[in-house]
Amino acid sequence: MSINKKSYDYGAAKSSIREIAAYGAARKAEVGAENVYDFSLGNPSIPAPDAVRASIARSLELPPTQLHSYTPAAGLPAAREAVAASLNRRFGTSYGPGDLYLTCGAAASLSICFHALANAGDEVIVIAPYFPEYRVWIETAGAACIEVMADANTFQIDNAAVAAAITPKTKAVVINSPNNPVGSVYSEENLKALADVLREREEALGTNIYLIADEPYREITYGDVVPWVPAIYDRTIVCYSYSKSLSLPGERIGWVLVPPTNPEHDMLVLAIAGAGRKLGFVCAPAIFQRVIADCVDEPSDVEAYARNRVALTEGLGKLGYEYIEPQGAFYLWVKALEPDANAFFEKCKALDLLPVPSDSFGCPGWVRIGYCVSYETIVNSMPAWAKLKAQYE
Ligand code: PLP
Repeated sequence: MSINKKSYDYGAAKSSIREIAAYGAARKAEVGAENVYDFSLGNPSIPAPDAVRASIARSLELPPTQLHSYTPAAGLPAAREAVAASLNRRFGTSYGPGDLYLTCGAAASLSICFHALANAGDEVIVIAPYFPEYRVWIETAGAACIEVMADANTFQIDNAAVAAAITPKTKAVVINSPNNPVGSVYSEENLKALADVLREREEALGTNIYLIADEPYREITYGDVVPWVPAIYDRTIVCYSYSKSLSLPGERIGWVLVPPTNPEHDMLVLAIAGAGRKLGFVCAPAIFQRVIADCVDEPSDVEAYARNRVALTEGLGKLGYEYIEPQGAFYLWVKALEPDANAFFEKCKALDLLPVPSDSFGCPGWVRIGYCVSYETIVNSMPAWAKLKAQYE
């Protein structure tokens, strides 16, 4: 093959989530949208706040050359200043614009981190079940993706398992809380125990281990507090995106934060900028840099997700399904009614129920139901879930 084999393979092996969504769209055209219960995608169903539209309108008043011009590679100083000030208000920190690199969403933030940190042959630990693209981005940066299962009952981090997986090649551990696909929020106690493990292993092995906190769902919670990870572990890098919190997934805007607690802070900031340069991930969309400067403190509207969460958990609970109570994000992790989640998914599909089988997330035996859909979709899907359950009785 004269073209890049790995790139070809990634292109040819489509994301199973997107394949299910494409099937759902085709099926809706065939039998009517109201008859298909597509729970596959994590596309927010809540509109972006009005303040976003107002900010875009203000941007359009700028002279076109200014409106559409390049910004610095790391982003407009005013936008980074606004993000830093917002974080400082919320977490009592003293971050500055130089600690932030604006990106095209969390996908770019994470890719940049892996390229900034990993040398060929390094290892990056992910907590399974995990967002499937992590593996693609880690491998593309030349590192190996090492899966460590979360605690089988609580889906908190299994710190003994993390300790056992760390080797002299371990460069970073990626955590995602609130979690996609489980909806769990890691407790302060769980994160402190992880930090202890990382420090102990660093000391024993004479290496540096970074903690990458992927937090696109930070604001989407149902009562739990999401601990601020850099306050718990010094070598933390935070990846963030406005895709979920402000319902802007198509606009591609987020950031990487290198907190000054990192002992190698200045070198790390340059490596993040260098990785951005290497990947061509420079100058995030300028209009949306201005939007976040204006909207950084806009609250996330989680009311509709909270209502969906109650309808779904109560509905499935009454039918006898087993699930993990979601503390955040907009996914419900439901035990498949047979050991093979793919076989279970085929039975769901036959009833036009479209969750995502858990094997896609590196974990057997479950399905993920995305409840960022309309309330009606959830309520109207209940007879099909009942029919499905009856098939196993
Ligand atoms: N990380 C997690 C856990 C996600 O669920 C997603 C998107 O669904 C991303 C990263 C990528 O987000 P973005 O749209 O900001 O690139």
